[in-house]
Amino acid sequence: MVDRIGTGVMRVHGEAQMRVRHIAVLGSTGSIGTSTLDVVARHPDRFRVTVLAAGSREDDLFSQCLRFQPRYAFLADPAAAARVGRRLRDSGSHVDVLSGTDALVDLVRLAEVDTVMAAIVGAAGLRSTLAAAAAGKRVLLANKESLVMAGPVFMDAVLKGNAALFPVDSEHNAVFQALPRDFAGDIAGSGIRRILLTASGGPFRRALPESLDAVTPEQACAHPNWIMGRKISVDSATMMNKGLEVIEARWLFNAPHERIKVVIHPQSIVHSLVEYVDGSVIAQLGNPDMRTPIAHALGYPDRIEAGVERFDLPAIGALSFEEPDPRRFPCLGLAYDALREGGSASTLLNAANEVAVASFLDRGLPFPDIARLNADVLAEVPATRLASLDDVIEADARGRRAALDWIGRRTRQAAATRMRAGQR
Ligand code: NAD
Ligand code: MG
Repeated sequence: MVDRIGTGVMRVHGEAQMRVRHIAVLGSTGSIGTSTLDVVARHPDRFRVTVLAAGSREDDLFSQCLRFQPRYAFLADPAAAARVGRRLRDSGSHVDVLSGTDALVDLVRLAEVDTVMAAIVGAAGLRSTLAAAAAGKRVLLANKESLVMAGPVFMDAVLKGNAALFPVDSEHNAVFQALPRDFAGDIAGSGIRRILLTASGGPFRRALPESLDAVTPEQACAHPNWIMGRKISVDSATMMNKGLEVIEARWLFNAPHERIKVVIHPQSIVHSLVEYVDGSVIAQLGNPDMRTPIAHALGYPDRIEAGVERFDLPAIGALSFEEPDPRRFPCLGLAYDALREGGSASTLLNAANEVAVASFLDRGLPFPDIARLNADVLAEVPATRLASLDDVIEADARGRRAALDWIGRRTRQAAATRMRAGQR
């Protein structure tokens, strides 16, 4: 395709310059995964889906395979993987459907895969995301938990594997867009005073603290601005999500925690900002639609159509900002505590939080106990060195055990209280 630019200079782009990217979408049936496929489908000339990987939603994966005809598919559940494989063969599709953690790592490493969208939720995404980094892929990082758990190990893998890392989390993608183009991890040397991460404040920004005891998973997952998976929705309600994002920013941008600040911005239009020493503040704005950061990461350095509704400032009207209340959102402070402590403290916090959130979603722990459990595990379990994947896995297991013990104690206490009340 030949394009004539205003000055009369001829610029040639299209087939000759544009390399088709071969993508593995990990977590393809989730919120980020389906948004990724939505963007990919708009650009059949740019992207081929080579791998689709998911946990358990076999019908969704089956439909995605029919539509995108990947070379391989993956399901964590082996019986479901076998069923999908059979159904695909019966419909005349040549898709190999695999299962098992090693198989997922092998798929990510395939020479024919150049780009990996890492969008599995939680610690389950660690090994595949790390494998993509070590294999030198273009890593589009949505799975923030892997960076929170394994910060130094992950960044080391990126460096040694010569991988290219693109943040998909909207705040980090915004920061990436607001940083100097040649930024190579030197915050002070680039004249950066602070990174400002915006947070919506979630569904309970104004709720009375005493009302939170009775909160249901459905209420916690009803985010005012974003439609997301259940785990991250609960994290947004506790603001642990923003805490995880502070840790994510620390590693992605090599930024000391003193230079990362969180500001509440209920409209979710300003996705984050970078403040420079001359007083300039550069922000990235847009509608709260994850297809924007996904398209930015997929297309980089090109800008590509994402299907996002047109931006309408008069309709938005006003943007507001406020300081987060540390008593209302203790999980945010815990993330800074973990960064100050260093070593495996962030791994322990992430593990505790995953167990606490899963219990809350299962109608076990009441909502305010998520923050209590996280605080206690972080205070009780000593942090250790974090130099290898084994260190990460060991700390993650310790954090999970401590969290399960905490839930056990809490359940026994609650039963004893009920018994005493019954005797009265
Ligand atoms: P989701 O729950 O909607 O989807 C999770 C996906 O992971 C599903 O496809 C599921 O099948 C898959 N999965 C789970 N366990 C698996 C396993 N063991 N093996 C293979 N696949 C497995 O979650 P989401 O909201 O899409 O979030 C995904 C990641 O992106 C999370 O780390 C989240 O923090 C991050 N993120 C999400 C958003 C958002 O808007 N949803 C924004 C920023 C960051
Ligand atoms: Mg985010």
